[in-house]
Amino acid sequence: MQHIIDRFVSYVTIDTESDANSPTTPSTKKQLVLAKLLVKELKDIGLTEVTIDKNGYVMGTLPSNVDHEVPTIGFVSHYDTSPDFTGKDVQPQIIPNYDGKDIVLNKEQNIVLSPSYFKDLLLYKGQTLITTNGLTLLGADDKAGLTEIVTAMEYLVQHPEIKHGKIRVGFTPDEEIGRGADIFDVEKFGAQWAYTMDGSQIGELEYENFNAAGAKIIFKGKSVHPGYAKGKMINSMLIANHFINKLPKNEIPQETKGYEGFFHVTGLTGSLEETKLELIIRDHDAKKFKKRKKRVQKIVNDINKKFAKQFGEDICIAEIKDQYYNMREKVEPMMFIVDLAEKAMKQLGIKPLIKPIRGGTDGSRLSYMGLPCPNIFAGGHNFHGKYEYVPVESMQKAVDVIVKIAELTATTDFSKESKKKK
Ligand SMILES: [Zn+2]
Repeated sequence: MQHIIDRFVSYVTIDTESDANSPTTPSTKKQLVLAKLLVKELKDIGLTEVTIDKNGYVMGTLPSNVDHEVPTIGFVSHYDTSPDFTGKDVQPQIIPNYDGKDIVLNKEQNIVLSPSYFKDLLLYKGQTLITTNGLTLLGADDKAGLTEIVTAMEYLVQHPEIKHGKIRVGFTPDEEIGRGADIFDVEKFGAQWAYTMDGSQIGELEYENFNAAGAKIIFKGKSVHPGYAKGKMINSMLIANHFINKLPKNEIPQETKGYEGFFHVTGLTGSLEETKLELIIRDHDAKKFKKRKKRVQKIVNDINKKFAKQFGEDICIAEIKDQYYNMREKVEPMMFIVDLAEKAMKQLGIKPLIKPIRGGTDGSRLSYMGLPCPNIFAGGHNFHGKYEYVPVESMQKAVDVIVKIAELTATTDFSKESKKKK
């Protein structure tokens, strides 16, 4: 356990915040500090084919230790942290034998991590928690994943009696700004399937995520002296407001759960002459997803029709772009890869929690790039903020799951499955 804590702390104390406004990969140079440390560790542990490319993608191989043919599998996590909250000067606090009471993260600022608000905490009574000091995020998303993959590889190297096939590990930058999978070299990685270690609570196993699109909409206006504006002025802010009112009121993130999709206004800035609105569209169901996009376009078209005469040109311009798709479509033909992870958890006494992700993961992009990639728990909670925490026991269990999956992959007969696939 101390080994896991030490490794985790060595990762989270390196600031790797990514930056959506940067055009480079990685988006921030500082991410490479951790990337290079990971390269060194993989080499020290004894992995082969350890590489880092010019964009910071780290890969390594644990060679097979059996004579028979075993599918090559992979484990993937990301080393950047979310720009939503600062990741500078992370000072983790270790709470051994958690007593189920409030945890004071920061006395001076009275920042408290309380089970009366974060009920999940009570699942971990008696365990060792790692929290923030209230001033930064923790970075368990996804440095818990890194810790688990590296530790599991180390364990397998030290325990050659555990039989496994070839295993590839991959660490990516910029997942938090939606670019982690963009230039992941799936061919070079060379695995038949992989798992991202990037979920939350112990037991989580996910192979369904949202279909996602983002819309940027510009509303134009016409400025006229308010005293003489009748029939002439067009206030772009009011048109944007009209647009928002046309969206279904209860299909928003704070009113939906499970498989329910939503529209979410993420940005709105404006003046009389021009208002810019940003919107994201999410749905697990591909058909409903299409419908949602059409609905946005229809509201825009209706507004344009209404103002066609008065404005002369389109008053409202929408650019709707797909962001990622539900990986279910790519994973379902290979359901045995989910079954394998489920079996591994059950054999370790972990209750699998299979549920749709209300978001995306690197795995959803990778699945569409030819690397089917379900997501497994990494153990952390309350990502992207000061209340983030991770139980060390959950990280240990994730290590065990990786080892068990490696073992099961070497002992499962996939001949039927691969026929099904083709
Ligand atoms: Zn993550």
